Amino acid sequence: MQSNGIIFILSAPSGTGKTTICKLLTQKLPDLKFSISHTTREPRNGEVEGTDYHFTSKKEFEEKIERGEFLEWAKVFKNYYGTALESVDRHHLNGDDVLIELDVQGAQSLRDIHYKAVFIFIMPPSLEALETRLNNRGTEPASTIQERLKISEKEIQLSLLYDYILTNVDAEQTTDHLLSIITAEHFRKERYKPSSPDLDNLINDEAHT
Ligand code: 5GP
Repeated sequence: MQSNGIIFILSAPSGTGKTTICKLLTQKLPDLKFSISHTTREPRNGEVEGTDYHFTSKKEFEEKIERGEFLEWAKVFKNYYGTALESVDRHHLNGDDVLIELDVQGAQSLRDIHYKAVFIFIMPPSLEALETRLNNRGTEPASTIQERLKISEKEIQLSLLYDYILTNVDAEQTTDHLLSIITAEHFRKERYKPSSPDLDNLINDEAHT
């Protein structure tokens, strides 16, 4: 089935403010659908099953891998995270835009299979700012924060895998930039569908001269 929807891949080092940005994006673009990932990590305070993640046991996750139910999956901070094919297809086949949030390993594996999507990376203003945000969030012990910071440094080095890089200084502004990218992607010439046969003929004539 042909879909007019675009798949957007969004990655950001932990603590960059991605969750806030995604919440703002939902308000500004209510039609955008989010793929809900599966994870084996424990829910954080306030996280809701089926909204933030599908919280899954390790056994269940490994069975899903065996059955080939994931578009991609990765081990991040000792836990599994994965995007189920169904989580994307259910929206994309309806012609909706879908946003998939995943880490750099996930983005890398989708690049490897030449997955058709727009890849966007959100950069923290600095490593110091990232550390401050992780400390202020207060959801992880100091040792985990240090581990996350080390991983973030590697992720930042791999940001060149992406089509767009945004620095998140102000979440409102970053969300507006994200919106601009989403809008502009719909006007790429590859997605242009002539509204009348004469325009279609003109384009095709030009292409063949
Ligand atoms: P957190 O535990 O902070 O929610 O997420 C940890 C990391 O896992 C983040 O970098 C996040 O982008 C990544 N992540 C979330 N969902 C997925 C997914 O479905 N696949 C992959 N590869 N990474 C994910």
